[in-house]
Amino acid sequence: MGLFDKFKEVTRKVSEVEHNIYHEKRDYLEIYERNLELEKEIAERTEELNDANKRMFTLQHIWDMMNSSTPLENVLEAIVNSTQGELGYMHCVIIKKCTDEDGEFMRILAQSNDALIDRLNSLIGPPGIQTRRLNYASESVFADTMRQRTIIQTKSIDLSLEAVLPDLSKEIVSKILSNQPIRSVIVVPLVAQKKEFGWFCVFSAREELASAEMDFLGLFAKQIEMAITIADLFQAVREQAVTDALTGLYNRRYFEEALEKEVQRAKRQKQPFSIIGIDLDYLKKINDTYGHSYGDLAIKTIAEVLKANARSVDVSARIGGEEFNVLLPGINSEGAMIAAERIRKSIENAEIDTVGHITGSLGVATYFEHSENVEELLELTDQAMYTSKREGRNRVTLAKPISETYWQEIAVNTFIDILSKNRIPKAKHLSKELCQKLKATNKDEVSKEALYTVADMLTKIYNPMHTSGIIKKKVQMAVSLAKRFDLPKEDIDNLRVAVLLYDIGNLMLPSDLLQKATPLTDEERETIKNHPIIAARDILKPISYIQDVLPIIEHHHENWDGSGYPNKISKEAIPLTSQIILIIDEYFALIEQRPYRAKLSGKDALEIIKTDMGKKWNENLVREFISLIEHDIV
Ligand code: GH3
Ligand code: MG
Repeated sequence: MGLFDKFKEVTRKVSEVEHNIYHEKRDYLEIYERNLELEKEIAERTEELNDANKRMFTLQHIWDMMNSSTPLENVLEAIVNSTQGELGYMHCVIIKKCTDEDGEFMRILAQSNDALIDRLNSLIGPPGIQTRRLNYASESVFADTMRQRTIIQTKSIDLSLEAVLPDLSKEIVSKILSNQPIRSVIVVPLVAQKKEFGWFCVFSAREELASAEMDFLGLFAKQIEMAITIADLFQAVREQAVTDALTGLYNRRYFEEALEKEVQRAKRQKQPFSIIGIDLDYLKKINDTYGHSYGDLAIKTIAEVLKANARSVDVSARIGGEEFNVLLPGINSEGAMIAAERIRKSIENAEIDTVGHITGSLGVATYFEHSENVEELLELTDQAMYTSKREGRNRVTLAKPISETYWQEIAVNTFIDILSKNRIPKAKHLSKELCQKLKATNKDEVSKEALYTVADMLTKIYNPMHTSGIIKKKVQMAVSLAKRFDLPKEDIDNLRVAVLLYDIGNLMLPSDLLQKATPLTDEERETIKNHPIIAARDILKPISYIQDVLPIIEHHHENWDGSGYPNKISKEAIPLTSQIILIIDEYFALIEQRPYRAKLSGKDALEIIKTDMGKKWNENLVREFISLIEHDIV
């Protein structure tokens, strides 16, 4: 090979190598670049997986809640809090679509606990957003999502806020949104069991959400819908349950339904029916001596007696703890007395492990013979049963027809029962005085005056302030105040009785709690908060003629702005009569000495009352109140 050829050969080889190197280099470069891309993709996928994992975890969390029979509100609360916290949204809320006589509106059912809500509430002022009636505008993102059944993401947060709270000024709206990193709101419609339920909303710091995330929010909404459906089903099952778990007898609900049907049948066929009421004697003693489980055993024993003595058409039910009713279709009072006596004997004869023997007190009343009104009939059964108790227990008493039953007598007896149940020592002595007073009142006029006398007597027993004349003064003040608002006479009559009885719940409170000089613990405060409910429901409920007074008492700790208790209602939803009691009660509390502070002058008391204007009570009321007592002070 010549030199030239050699050179050519080398050059060719070199260029070949060069070519190869070039190609390999390019391959390497490509591989390197692909590697980079892959790494990036892996990082992104990992992040997505992490997100998905978090969402799955949250879903799992919600599922766990739903599988137990947790109340719906707690499930919803957990959902909003996990969505907000675990998935990193600014805020999360579940809103319910509601309807009442004034039309459609919205109400917050659950919202995540975060700084946003405190800020919003402090800017809009009381009541908090969670208790407000929110406007449902037909031109709003809420209506749109519901109509289209789609998820909508909106960046016009101000518009949505204005639609929901139309009374807010533009200034406040912009204040609420200023310095807020919220960029968008995602509104998901909730439809449960084919009914429009409401919305699930999340507030995000991002303007755009990936479609996967939107899909997930849709999935969340499905979970919420399922939670709602499950809660509805649980409710339905609870309502359908007709038997009592301890005894296997029917429960109160079933008894009432059966009674309703029996009345229709009795009317149609002109056939009577009877009710036997049974109350176990001295159960407290059995509980205290042998323990609660033996108390339960005594209750079960009565149930067994009732089952053994019942015909197939009879309905035996456990009405309350130790109270039973038997409905006897087609049976008149004579037959019912025989049946009741048989039951009494069987109870007395039953042998109970450890406890030995028990007894029951029974009352009997018959439809047509004693009354044609079901409520009255139940009341008469109860009264007859209480007569058995009063006369020594372990006996049967037949009701008196309503025409022979002086309602005053019932009133007196009921009050005496209440008093002796509460172990009030002077009960017997006072009952005599009370009977005489009542006999003197005109019995044709089943008047509020007589009821007032009874209530006044009761107050004398439970409230040591009675003798000082303060109670009388409170009543007078309440009446004067009510008259300034032109309340009807009936409301004023009820108010007078309510002023006497509103604190009766204190009977149930341990007295050391009321006298305590150190600050109350949360638990103690809860106990005290419960007292108006206890008063209204437990103590006074058995007395049917006091029913119109109950709501006044029950709401006398509600505040105008919704921050009171027990129901947190606000403004006009609170009876004016309850507001009157609240302000009078506060005034007298302030001018009295308390264990934890000195008494205040009337003027100072009014100043304090004024500071709560619009919060505890409405302004008009305060103005009238001040003008009413001003001359008392100077
Ligand atoms: P009386 O003869 O006047 O009926 O006296 P009593 O002790 O039976 O009646 P009272 O109404 O004063 O008390 C009833 C008690 O029954 C109060 C409550 O603790 C108890 N009790 C109510 N329900 C149950 C229950 O399901 N099981 C048990 N063991 N006790 C109950
Ligand atoms: Mg009892």
